[in-house]
Amino acid sequence: MERGYIQVYTGNGKGKTTAALGMSLRCVCAGKKVFFGEFIKDRESSELKAGAFLPNFEIVQFGCGCFIDRDPEEEDFRAAREGLARCDRVLRSGEYGLVVLDEINVALFYGLLEAGDVIEVLGRRDCRVEVVLTGRYAPQEVIDAADLVTEMREVKHYYHEGVEARPGIER
Ligand code: ATP
Ligand code: MG
Repeated sequence: MERGYIQVYTGNGKGKTTAALGMSLRCVCAGKKVFFGEFIKDRESSELKAGAFLPNFEIVQFGCGCFIDRDPEEEDFRAAREGLARCDRVLRSGEYGLVVLDEINVALFYGLLEAGDVIEVLGRRDCRVEVVLTGRYAPQEVIDAADLVTEMREVKHYYHEGVEARPGIER
């Protein structure tokens, strides 16, 4: 039986979420179903419309207000926990070829989730499903649990020149 692996895209350079979206496209085109869960995020981004173009692509946001400029509140913790519970069901269902936990490393970094809980969810998934975890600051426990880890390293980024996220390019 085909086995699925655990992949991690981390680091401070551009390309983590983009890589996960690119593999999602490939996976859908290979005839498999994809679930793309976005932790932290609750802002409009172009990929939220992907379901209209790709019938087997499901994308859901688990954030509730960007707390990066403030301390996380109870609703942020709840949203992350509910997101993980949803991903747990999806990962066990055996229905999907690929499940993406986008920005889950950031949720871990801010203490919205416990690394042990995430590892537990990964451990009880249907063994055929491929999983991708993205976000800066991947903790050591996640790196240890993974089969593939890629670090996007920033060499240059126009963000430092004041270029904000643009539709179709960053969001
Ligand atoms: P992409 O979605 O383009 O593949 P990514 O997933 O690798 O990017 P994230 O860490 O999720 O990158 O960054 C999200 C957004 O943060 C970027 O779109 C960018 O506008 C902004 N950003 C980039 N560099 C920095 C930085 N050094 N500090 C703060 N924000 C940044
Ligand atoms: Mg990202």
